[in-house]
Amino acid sequence: MIYLHLFSTKSGNKMEEENEQFNSAIDGNFEEVCPEKVIKFKPPLYKQRYQFVRDFVDQHKPKKVADLGCGDTELLRLLKIYPCIQRLVGVDIDKEKLQSNGHQLSPYLGEFVKPRDLDLTVILYHGSVVERDSRLLGFDLITCIELIEHLDSDDLARFPEVVFGYLSPAMIVISTPNSEFNPLFPTVTLRDADHKFEWNRMEFQTWALQVANRYHYSVEFTGVGEPPAGAEHVGYCTQIGVFRKNSGKVYKISYPSLQQEKMLKFVLVGEVLILVERLRLRQQRMLREQKDLCNDPDNTDSSGPPQVLLGAVFTEAEEARIENSPKPFCEGDKFFVPLQRLLAYPKVHRLRVTEERMRSLIADSVQLSSDGSAVMDDLYKSWDYQFEDY
Ligand code: SAM
Repeated sequence: MIYLHLFSTKSGNKMEEENEQFNSAIDGNFEEVCPEKVIKFKPPLYKQRYQFVRDFVDQHKPKKVADLGCGDTELLRLLKIYPCIQRLVGVDIDKEKLQSNGHQLSPYLGEFVKPRDLDLTVILYHGSVVERDSRLLGFDLITCIELIEHLDSDDLARFPEVVFGYLSPAMIVISTPNSEFNPLFPTVTLRDADHKFEWNRMEFQTWALQVANRYHYSVEFTGVGEPPAGAEHVGYCTQIGVFRKNSGKVYKISYPSLQQEKMLKFVLVGEVLILVERLRLRQQRMLREQKDLCNDPDNTDSSGPPQVLLGAVFTEAEEARIENSPKPFCEGDKFFVPLQRLLAYPKVHRLRVTEERMRSLIADSVQLSSDGSAVMDDLYKSWDYQFEDY
């Protein structure tokens, strides 16, 4: 199910982004070669940026993704099809942009006909990326595509503390224009009237490395929008920093625990098999003694208390719990131990499973009675004589 919420926290300015200029200039991987320096990226540069994020999502499978400075929400629309994403959030300071584009994030008809396997919630928040917002905590990936160059110096100074320090997602992708590419454009000033700066690669990388070091991230640099042949020295038209939070781990190992379903099943089945076997042998012994008593009524020798036979000494409370549970029984040559009886024994009791859960955990490892209330076993086995005195 996709939910769309539009939250409003702060009004903001309308900010415009490029593309006409980006779709025109020199040759290389461009559609046209023109003497007037008209570059035409193919695919268009903004699509290359979105594709970069899509490939990144495909590779890293984040569950929670936030796009800061999401603008007209086009990237969010492309990301909502990824099955791994369960929470997709867009934030922009331009409320009007969010309101006029939000509806495009609603599910298509086809998404009702063939619903997703996992829930997806899409949320748009109106606000500034330099304000701490607890609703953006705990994300796997935050993208800031062509955002930072729209921040004035005060906001740019606050941005790392909020995004890296406070929100601290596992991964951050930041893209920004590479000013070294600008001389290839017909007009050489800033690419957009709202840009507060455009950095060359050294400036961006210096800033990014300082931020990464301060907030314990590693960073790798790449880009999209390849320069034309002969102008390789200018680098990509859009420079991109990919930040990953350092885990600080040198060694990590997960210990087996009963919280893990597989481990719980393993331990439970083991305990059940041991108990059923011991109870089965005790049942045989009791039957033998009854038979002996019939043959020799003067012989009143008892086989001792059940706990001794089970190789364990129980507390009074444990013994009472066992005694109050349904007893094992025989039907023909079949031997039955009620699940409730098994659950009464301390080693099973400590696993804290209900009868229902126990049934489902052991069902494929033991034979159950037709109503599923007891474990069923043969009373006699071919190898019994070897273990008669077990
Ligand atoms: N990321 C989108 C894309 O690549 O298509 C839009 C990029 S657009 C150039 C920059 C966006 O950042 C604008 O939508 C603008 O409103 C937004 N923006 C600028 N300053 C912001 C801030 N302080 N907080 C949130 N959004 C901001």
